Amino acid sequence: MSYASETRRRRTFAIISHPDAGKTTLTEKLLLFSGAIQIAGAVKGRKASRHATSDWMEIEKQRGISVASSVMQMSYRDHVINLLDTPGHKDFSEDTYRVLTAVDSALMVIDAANGVETQTRRLIEVCRQRDTPIITFVNKMDREVRDPLDILDEVERELGMPCCPMTWPVGQGRQFGGIIDLRTQSMTVFQPGSDKRPEDFEVIPLAEADKLRARFGQTFDDALESMELAVGASAEWSHEQFLAAKLTPVFFGSGVNNFGVKEVLDAVVDMSPPPGPRKSTLLVNKQPVEKIVHPEDEGFAGVVFKVQANMDANHRDRIAFVRVASGKYTPGMKMRVQRTGKELRPTSVVTFMSQRREAVEEAYAGDIIGFTTHGGVQLGDTITDGPALQFTGLPFFAPEMFMTVVLKNPLRTKQLHEGLMQLGEEGAIQVFKPEAGGNMLLGAVGQLQFEVVQHRLNTEYNCDIRLEGCQYTGARWITADTAAQLREFENAYPMRMARDAADTLAYLCTSPYDVRLAQERFPKIHFHPLREHA
Ligand code: GDP
Repeated sequence: MSYASETRRRRTFAIISHPDAGKTTLTEKLLLFSGAIQIAGAVKGRKASRHATSDWMEIEKQRGISVASSVMQMSYRDHVINLLDTPGHKDFSEDTYRVLTAVDSALMVIDAANGVETQTRRLIEVCRQRDTPIITFVNKMDREVRDPLDILDEVERELGMPCCPMTWPVGQGRQFGGIIDLRTQSMTVFQPGSDKRPEDFEVIPLAEADKLRARFGQTFDDALESMELAVGASAEWSHEQFLAAKLTPVFFGSGVNNFGVKEVLDAVVDMSPPPGPRKSTLLVNKQPVEKIVHPEDEGFAGVVFKVQANMDANHRDRIAFVRVASGKYTPGMKMRVQRTGKELRPTSVVTFMSQRREAVEEAYAGDIIGFTTHGGVQLGDTITDGPALQFTGLPFFAPEMFMTVVLKNPLRTKQLHEGLMQLGEEGAIQVFKPEAGGNMLLGAVGQLQFEVVQHRLNTEYNCDIRLEGCQYTGARWITADTAAQLREFENAYPMRMARDAADTLAYLCTSPYDVRLAQERFPKIHFHPLREHA
């Protein structure tokens, strides 16, 4: 049996934006229009209640940032939409990058007053590396913002791909009259109000230019003029180019006013790709061979792209977020974690329906399901119902900051090791064990990761630790073509060698020149700034 009819109607995407651009607002509107929630304000409410129930997320509350990313499933126009939230704070960029490996497309939201901001830029880089198609939404047109031509120009430069405007704004701020839909050649008239439904907005064909001119005066003529300029200077719409991440369609609107939002939601359904094939390696006679896994393949396969400790600190169970890559999941089916060959026996398997977690009845490629386990599952693990394949491409980034862990009560060493191992498996932090012995090292991409880990070690593992600075400023995972070459290198730098949670050898650096010098001395050693789970 083929699952193609199910996988074809799935869309799995993430919203990427700089904090405050309007991601939460837009998410909520998408849920509202899809009928997944009834009242506006529910997404914010969800954020708040999450704070209240999770102990270690107090940090998050204190700082008013979103540490954890979440997943929402909804149906819209006979499609199943999986929306993945990406944490906005820069310290959690690693987690965000991994979330982006689980999606097939991205929706980029930018604040029309601020253009493309720093955090968005970093997310764009990851999308670009993976050739993820991007739809652009220019938000907050009801404010005094920048010239739309300017914004297009900036998006083109930042994304490194041409823009193709799909809608065009008529005025902005107090003069915001609405948007022109270039395909239908009609103008949707703006009305403020967060309770508006898409069908509430008046639509006037451009052919009735006199009527529009009478209502919007010079603003309308100016908009036509700049629209003409934009269209003249932009790429022609090409679905193939968009899918190849070589062109971005651009929409304008105001999320908080529900305006221009339906157009984006429709674009996700109409333009974004359904789940595609994914690369994996399969062991054939103990030799790894590349295998392309197709969404409609019969065998179930999925990859763990995120592991999160359960909110309830008393139960040390964790949720492994799995992106289904092929086949069909049904309750009770037998599954294996390919890294260990062990059977996976989750205590529960859930899907994430906006604010509720529900037991999964079935899931197909593109869907995200959460397995609750008591361990045995790591970030990057592949789970299948049979074949020994392993998905590649889940990135770990070389830490840029290191701290030494000093345990205040040495009697809790065992608990510390357990805690560090589990937090390392979750990807909350990277843990390095120096080959020469001594205290464990924590490696992070952002400062906040240290605080979260310190807090969690204390509350969940009852380990009071002190973090001390150390001389390391970076690390590179190292490999060589022969074991002898690797040994030679290890002997040359015995004090710099450490192993991470996956037992991969790393070289610790104290300055950016270190790697260069070491590389010059040992040209045959490969230094990797990024480790892919393999
Ligand atoms: P996030 O940090 O990206 O999730 O941003 P939020 O969705 O929380 O929005 C940040 C702020 O911008 C909030 O106060 C929103 O009410 C406001 N906002 C969002 N969309 C619009 C819009 O279209 N127009 C205006 N004027 N404000 C908006």
